[in-house]
Amino acid sequence: MRAAERSAGGADGTDARARLPSIDRLLSQPDAQALIAAHGRPLTLEALRAALDALREKPPRDGADPAALALAGAAARLARLAQPSQRRVFNLTGTVLHTNLGRALLPEEAVEAVAAAMREPSNLEFEIASGKRGERDSHVASWLIRYSGAEAATVVNNNAAAVLLVLNTLAKGKEAVVSRGELVEIGGAFRIPDVMARAGAKLVEIGTTNRTHLRDYEQAIGEKTALLMKVHTSNYRIDGFTTSVPAREIAPVAKAKGLPLVEDLGSGTLVDLKPYGLPHEPTVAESIAAGADLVTFSGDKLLGGPQAGMIVGRRDLIAQINKNPLKRALRLDKIRLAALEAVLRLYADPEKLRRRLPTIRHLARPKAEIEALARRLAPVVAQALSAHATVSVAECASQIGSGALPVENLPSAGLKLEPTGGSADRLAKRLRELPIPIIGRIADGAVILDLRCLEDEAAFVAQL
Ligand SMILES: *Cc1c(COP(=O)(O)O)cnc(C)c1O
Repeated sequence: MRAAERSAGGADGTDARARLPSIDRLLSQPDAQALIAAHGRPLTLEALRAALDALREKPPRDGADPAALALAGAAARLARLAQPSQRRVFNLTGTVLHTNLGRALLPEEAVEAVAAAMREPSNLEFEIASGKRGERDSHVASWLIRYSGAEAATVVNNNAAAVLLVLNTLAKGKEAVVSRGELVEIGGAFRIPDVMARAGAKLVEIGTTNRTHLRDYEQAIGEKTALLMKVHTSNYRIDGFTTSVPAREIAPVAKAKGLPLVEDLGSGTLVDLKPYGLPHEPTVAESIAAGADLVTFSGDKLLGGPQAGMIVGRRDLIAQINKNPLKRALRLDKIRLAALEAVLRLYADPEKLRRRLPTIRHLARPKAEIEALARRLAPVVAQALSAHATVSVAECASQIGSGALPVENLPSAGLKLEPTGGSADRLAKRLRELPIPIIGRIADGAVILDLRCLEDEAAFVAQL
């Protein structure tokens, strides 16, 4: 549509367009110079052109100053560009290890170690004593060995990579035996059968969805069998008439046949969570003690560290894995190794771990403390949202997340925001539009803010 058709009569866009300033004229203004100083010349030019294009499309009303409008439009564009894409948010979803919100938060010890590893050269692959080339995994392997009781350890990009690497190393062109009840899909397109195929291993399914017996493993073993595998059914549970065979019982069968038993623990935890008031989740040391030859688990789930995949177990098998060229493609960088080392160090002292590791601190946070926080915040939030919602303190249930203990809930407390005018969706959107977006969850027409993971009370209140 041409501008002349768009608006009839005298106050049409033709005039306004003619009045649009040139880029050169805009650039000569102090406001444009300030934008160049803040954002650089190329981006400022781009933003000014885009702002002029927008004014050409939608001409300003009579009396408006086109130059001022163009500069304001460019400033708004540049402000949006200057905002980092990955930003801080408040995770008040009640899911402590929320994959979409970045899973585990790192302790200050790890943040400092990461900053140091980024700023200066380090002995990443260098032995200071001998002056010879070193092993990057050595910075974390001894801690993993100490806590798991395994002979050796290696680390890769994430647990999906760990499973891929183990299967590719030990079962390429051969068969891997897995119970049908353990052929799980984890979020984000990780399916055991698909990973198996990509690793070049042939999946041999045994048992039925609900029941697998030891004899199923025994009968499946043949000429081409490379390994027996157990997968922690992280994110679902079958109740009722079910049987699965624990690693402890499969291990002797595997050993008698000279086959490795591999266990993918998924979340996996290095410590018993019971002393922190949490339900029992199988530990890595328990798997090793039960006779698993290799155990794989995540770095950023219950472990509370950076994204990483741990492989611990028999020395000969770890050596074989480290020789696989895929290991080179999947290895960890110095930044995450620094973070992981700092996190693993915390595990040496259970009390320190409770105080310093955000994952354990959030999971073990007493309900009374969360409730007290909710009571403190309720009047503040009520006042800030007085035009939009009524606010009350509510009981709620948090989840660990990332597949750990999917059906156990942690009693928690939070704020229930019931919209007075619009919908809960709109209210949730408003909260996401704050400088530090607040992410809650919607239930029964209300927005629920689970306060289990809220520690920075000051920042939360300040932006309301
Ligand atoms: C989460 C999970 C994985 C994938 O781990 P990432 O670290 O997310 O790659 C693999 N197996 C199981 C059983 C899991 O729970």
